[in-house]
Amino acid sequence: MPRERGTQLLRRSKTRVRGEGRSASFGSDGSSIADELAVWEQMSRPTLGSVLIFQDVLTEEQVDEAQRIHEDTGARFVDIVRMEGWATDNQIAAALALQFEIPLADLRNQQPEHEAIDRVGEELARRHHVMPLFVDEDDRVFIATAEPLDSDAITELTDQCRRIGLLIGAQNDIDRLIEQSYTVLRSAVEHIKAFELVDAEEEAAEESDTLAVDENAPIVQVVNRILMQGVRARASDIHIEPHEHFVRVRYRIDGALTEAIQLPRRMGAPISSRIKVMAELNIVERRRPQDGQFSVMIDKRPVDVRTSVVGTVHGEKIVLRLLDKTRSLIGLNELGMPPDVVEPYLEIVKAPLGMLLCTGPTGSGKTTTLYATLTQVNDDARNVVTIEDPVEYQFEGVNQMPISEASGITFAEGLRGILRQDPDTILLGEIRDVETARIATQAALTGHFVLSSLHAVDAVSALHRFTDMGIEPFLVASAISGVIGQRLLRRTCEQCRAVYTPTSADVDLIKASIGKAPDTWTRGVGCNECSGTGYNGRVGVYELLRVTDEIRDEIVNKATAREIRETAIAQGMRTMQQEAFRLVYEGVTTVDDVVRSVYAPGMDSNDDGVLMNEPDDIPARSLKPVPEPEMEVPA
Ligand SMILES: [Zn+2]
Repeated sequence: MPRERGTQLLRRSKTRVRGEGRSASFGSDGSSIADELAVWEQMSRPTLGSVLIFQDVLTEEQVDEAQRIHEDTGARFVDIVRMEGWATDNQIAAALALQFEIPLADLRNQQPEHEAIDRVGEELARRHHVMPLFVDEDDRVFIATAEPLDSDAITELTDQCRRIGLLIGAQNDIDRLIEQSYTVLRSAVEHIKAFELVDAEEEAAEESDTLAVDENAPIVQVVNRILMQGVRARASDIHIEPHEHFVRVRYRIDGALTEAIQLPRRMGAPISSRIKVMAELNIVERRRPQDGQFSVMIDKRPVDVRTSVVGTVHGEKIVLRLLDKTRSLIGLNELGMPPDVVEPYLEIVKAPLGMLLCTGPTGSGKTTTLYATLTQVNDDARNVVTIEDPVEYQFEGVNQMPISEASGITFAEGLRGILRQDPDTILLGEIRDVETARIATQAALTGHFVLSSLHAVDAVSALHRFTDMGIEPFLVASAISGVIGQRLLRRTCEQCRAVYTPTSADVDLIKASIGKAPDTWTRGVGCNECSGTGYNGRVGVYELLRVTDEIRDEIVNKATAREIRETAIAQGMRTMQQEAFRLVYEGVTTVDDVVRSVYAPGMDSNDDGVLMNEPDDIPARSLKPVPEPEMEVPA
């Protein structure tokens, strides 16, 4: 039996390793590294194949097959197993740990120490794919590797650190930790030091408006690194905020802000000057809000950066929105809309006239939904035009008009111009004012299909936003054919998902919405993969309001939002809240996150359509006091 053979081999090797009193430690005992390596390499161990069989990862046939491939091609056994998909990086790491009798590092949870990170340095870590973790009391630097027999790595690491200890880690975890630990922001530190040195000599530099155009100037380097790391970390926005004693840089990732670095306070003014020059703003103006845009190449990709500068008591706060032009466009089927919502939704958007509104707060993914919808309606037979502020993605065969309220071209003006050019489908980035709402309504009533977004709390509220703006109810009723309300929720991290006991209030909340509660409750407890937040990635929830004959009558008769919502639910609409709690039931997200981004106490009695719960920078684990459940009865 292969299994027994594996066990015997393992037992034998264990005795031998113990007997020799050696562990995977180098540079400690005075002998040369070459001698130490020779002993290490010649130790008798079971083969990796036998361990993988022993651990029930591979069959004996697979090991034989891998051996054959190895003999034919010369490829390494471990690479063959990985390439064939027979074992994961984690399984290979567990097998290596057993084979070499080296502890397995807990890279999912262990935080690498700064001292170890600095002792090894970025260049060595990246070149040898190793991750330094900690330094012990004997001054040994412990390093995780997936290649315990890489003698070049061991030699160079021992040269660099004097004494090292090896641990085993999964290759993908090591690579991820290298990315996290040696961010480009770490390398910004030397430029910050250089800046402080120069600045101490030239005290006046802060007040001066002369700018370093030198690409090697510390400020230029720091700004470049802030941008580069933002793009690499998938940030949608970068906030640069001057405080009394420092300048804080935060990234918005998956909808939540996380601090990236703190800079010396005196860097604030030169950084904002540098960014203002890039965005062609007035650098002398330090109090009035300014908006601009610039483009940079990061990792060979063009990135558009929308820049907003606002004066605060401690200096200028800058928000940079990153628009990656090469990001792939999401199709309608990838948005996460349930099939029974997609079908009626497509019926609405493929109609020759009418209007579809997409509603939600800033950052709820409205643009993504509008773009996905546009791909469905864009064909050669239609004249499709868009009016956007700014154009975020360029479509083939679509006429896209950028507008800029700052330079005086408004949505209303753009729309009027476009309507003279015989459009079939118009994507209007956002309806912000009465004038735009009026022209869009006229367009939808006169043989055009209008696709737009509106800042409103939910689908029904969008209808009332229109009537509140002074558009006659009968026009609203005839023009708008449907409204899709949406929010983005955070997905529970799969790497650190753990069972927990919910509060009785949480159980009541979900039961009030969907009439049932899960048997087992899980949430992310926080790990390296999710930066300790317990969430990784996002998922959309949608509610589709179809303007049926009955709802049309209600709009004309000035029914309240509550009445219209009840009719829609009776006609089969599932609300965003119900959809969100369904995702909690399925374990996709948590009650905390639903409360954070979808749930509004007494939302259903809110008739004025005012946005009540803008998703904000609430820490992931904070749970708001549970509001009185005043929610709809499930349909
Ligand atoms: Zn996690």
